[in-house]
Amino acid sequence: MLKIYELTVAYSTVPVLHGIDLEVPQNKIVALLGANGAGKSTILKSISGLIKPISGRIEFCGQSIAGLRPDEIVKLGVAHVPEGRLVFPGLTVADNLKIGTYSRKYSKNKLKANMEKAYELFPRLAERRNQLAGTMSGGEQQMLAIARAIMSEPRLLMLDEPSLGLAPVIVDLIMDKIKEINEQGTTILLIEQNAELALAISDYAYVMSVGELVLSGESREVAKDKSMLDAYLGGE
Ligand code: ATP
Repeated sequence: MLKIYELTVAYSTVPVLHGIDLEVPQNKIVALLGANGAGKSTILKSISGLIKPISGRIEFCGQSIAGLRPDEIVKLGVAHVPEGRLVFPGLTVADNLKIGTYSRKYSKNKLKANMEKAYELFPRLAERRNQLAGTMSGGEQQMLAIARAIMSEPRLLMLDEPSLGLAPVIVDLIMDKIKEINEQGTTILLIEQNAELALAISDYAYVMSVGELVLSGESREVAKDKSMLDAYLGGE
């Protein structure tokens, strides 16, 4: 579904990605692991059009998307939940969800149906539909960020560290929901600091170190390579 060839990215003149090759097959969960600053978020930002790569190809469903605007990439079916769950704090839960469909221009009925689906997946949000997002807990805001992303019915959902700063019980819930979204037919690309969690829910994994891929394969195989994981993820 998503294929990346020889992706090279720099911030001004500082290179941060050096010829990355990565593939996300349809209906799978792919985990992207690596220490802080390895370049994981930069890969997601390149896919969603927020950063222009120096070179390389990014293909989504057979179409080259490098160089397209972020809104055009969303319309093709790619949704990105950035690190730090950037919900609109001064808007209600319901209005945050509506904004998720902004570039899709859905009919009222379609909008309503998608909101109901989001509330079904996250009943906690349904209870709080009129609450201002900024007054919710970190876990609830993460649920909202994910729910908002699926409002646009993405084929590929990219999540940047959804468990960051959350209590273990909420992390488990978020991981279950990611699995559920995948089982309903959405392909997932997941950045996750917690390698054990990420390897447990994903089909394939890539491990990065300072701008390069150092290990990849089926997650259950990657999980066995403890010495590599320790070396590149600092013993996680
Ligand atoms: P983290 O988990 O800490 O976000 P990451 O693996 O996602 O790490 P990136 O955020 O992709 O890493 O950052 C890769 C490198 O690019 C880092 O060295 C970072 O300092 C640098 N970098 C990121 N954003 C910018 C920017 N806007 N300008 C300059 N350098 C940047």
